[in-house]
Amino acid sequence: MAIVEPIESAGPRRRLRVRSPVTLQPIGEFDCATAEDVRAAVERARKAQLEWASLSFDRRARHLYRLLDQLVAHQDEVIDAVVQETGKARQEAIAWEVFGPCDAINYYARHAGKILAPEKKRVHGPMRFLKKLRIVYEPLGVVGLITPWNGPVALAAVPLAQALMAGNAVVHKPSEVTPFSALVLKRLSEEAGLPPDLYQVVQGDGETGAALVEAGVDKISFTGSVATGRKVAEACGRLLVPCTLELGGKDAMIVCADADLDRAAAGAVNGSCINTGHYCCGTERIYVVDEVYEDFVAKVMERARELRQGDSGEFDVGAVFWDKQLDIIEAHMEDARAKGARVLMGGRRNPDLAGLFYEPTVVTHVNHGMDVMTNETFGPIVAIQRVSDEEEAIALANDSEYGLNGSVWTRDTDKGFRIAERIVTGGVCVNDMAITYGLCEAPFGGRKSSGVGKVNGEMGLKGYCHPKPISADRGRGSQGGYPYTRKGENRLQRIIRFFYGTRLGRWIAG
Ligand code: NAD
Repeated sequence: MAIVEPIESAGPRRRLRVRSPVTLQPIGEFDCATAEDVRAAVERARKAQLEWASLSFDRRARHLYRLLDQLVAHQDEVIDAVVQETGKARQEAIAWEVFGPCDAINYYARHAGKILAPEKKRVHGPMRFLKKLRIVYEPLGVVGLITPWNGPVALAAVPLAQALMAGNAVVHKPSEVTPFSALVLKRLSEEAGLPPDLYQVVQGDGETGAALVEAGVDKISFTGSVATGRKVAEACGRLLVPCTLELGGKDAMIVCADADLDRAAAGAVNGSCINTGHYCCGTERIYVVDEVYEDFVAKVMERARELRQGDSGEFDVGAVFWDKQLDIIEAHMEDARAKGARVLMGGRRNPDLAGLFYEPTVVTHVNHGMDVMTNETFGPIVAIQRVSDEEEAIALANDSEYGLNGSVWTRDTDKGFRIAERIVTGGVCVNDMAITYGLCEAPFGGRKSSGVGKVNGEMGLKGYCHPKPISADRGRGSQGGYPYTRKGENRLQRIIRFFYGTRLGRWIAG
């Protein structure tokens, strides 16, 4: 049964019905914004942005702190909305969709003013005697924010905080799979006193997302799959609209012989099953060196058997959020089985639960001929491959079209850092699982097919700005070079010979 399906509409807009992945019962309906709706939203946002951009960082921060107050006070509404539309464990909803956004809003409200303050730059070399340089970080204007279903509030609120603090307005197109929690965020922003047109939500599916890209925005901040990311990038390329693309991953975990196996096994199970495995930088493939392979698998099994899957009350692993993802998970596991993988646990839909539940799964004897080790599965699958040594693990980790995150497990932290540096990926954790997105200071973004550009941290925040260099002459020389003379030519060549042709000159000019 489809979680999202088109239904008859009385009006001119396409209408979608959304079902709970837990009960499979309808939980709501919504109209898809048309291209004209989206364009109108962008125009309204553009007007609101002008006034917003004129506010000081302190004034913008005050608004964001009020949004923070609202989020803290109304966290149960956020959690309920997310749990209803995703079926994720309540504690996960609290950690991801409330704690994460609160931390990010608080961080950017406090630090954006410092990070984006005009910078005086000392000009290098001989030009320093002639020119002054200042860099100011101007807002871009209206940011189109397109988000996926796996972290419906977190993946909206974190970029929202950055875009707003940088002085932009935001038009947000949430996923059609999780459209309702975005409306809670929108309502809280209005109750916090943010101008209604400064942050707007336009509901819809891919068609609405594509319309947002075309609607005259000044930047697209996209999070989603590689396939859609390519389409967005193509459109942005044609329109010359800058974009960041935070896309899928196939994160590798490397377990060295000297790893703390208890900690690594806990990290493997958590990293693979967190958010029902719907985590862009969740653990998708695990390479364990021969010496500790058997012990590691035994410890993983011990932990994985303790996982409780459920649809109410206390449980660890919730529903698969979307039927289309369930199809992918099942197809990957069938492919693995057919090619000789051993399923030690799970490997099937949960027969005791009515909704979209795939049992937490441990699978071994996997290899790179299988989808489960090469394509994004995005399910609660702990897939473990035995390798002869760390070199083979590094080579396999790099044998991927993806490169979002990854992890290395060893008691020798320096070695962990050395291995981390050799993995071609966006970020790496040592003895930890996929925390990078949660560290506000860390620039976050994928390599290879996992993305383009960075979000978060200083780099991400500055990505919502145009860094404008403003230079001024110190008034010590004549303006321009006219009239050109033989004498002028000779003088310039003498300068070149001294500054770039001698060691002393290079040192002064450097
Ligand atoms: P998706 O690409 O199907 O959809 C993402 C968003 O794009 C949705 O809002 C969708 O409606 C919209 N969209 C669809 N077609 C569009 C088009 N042609 N133009 C513009 N917008 C369009 O992705 P999904 O299934 O919602 O999300 C899961 C994917 O997101 C996974 O691959 C996951 O790894 C990735 N993800 C990445 C990160 C990251 O930070 N790198 C974080 C979370 C999720």
